Amino acid sequence: MKKKIILVCMTFFLMAFVARAEKGLKVFISVDMEGVGGVIHWEDVSRNGKDYSLFRRLMTDETNAAVEGALEAGATEILVRDSHGSARNILPDRLHPEAILLRDWSGGLLSMMEGIDETYDAVIFVGYHGQGGHT
Ligand SMILES: [Zn+2]
Repeated sequence: MKKKIILVCMTFFLMAFVARAEKGLKVFISVDMEGVGGVIHWEDVSRNGKDYSLFRRLMTDETNAAVEGALEAGATEILVRDSHGSARNILPDRLHPEAILLRDWSGGLLSMMEGIDETYDAVIFVGYHGQGGHT
């Protein structure tokens, strides 16, 4: 429920931004895994976890929902930054075809925002989480 509210808020923000933009929007989507719906244990987001493949799929599906929202709001260019662990979690063959996927790390200072620059109009965060031990 909390995630739906956050996604709706982000969508409204994005739509308001679109109203100001005359050209298509360039959108950056950073995707972590611990906040993906259903994740309850570190094993869910670890390569050796028995349900890791399930949560990779759910992570990709939640990303696709954000891509769809961005497209509906007027995005014309979307970069998806896989930001969890190895940065090789999102399933490329399942990702929305309108999105470009940035995988792995180059070692830059931007960490989970690696790939962003001043040309982007909006940012969406998917699967992010609070500090460990906090709700
Ligand atoms: Zn993570």
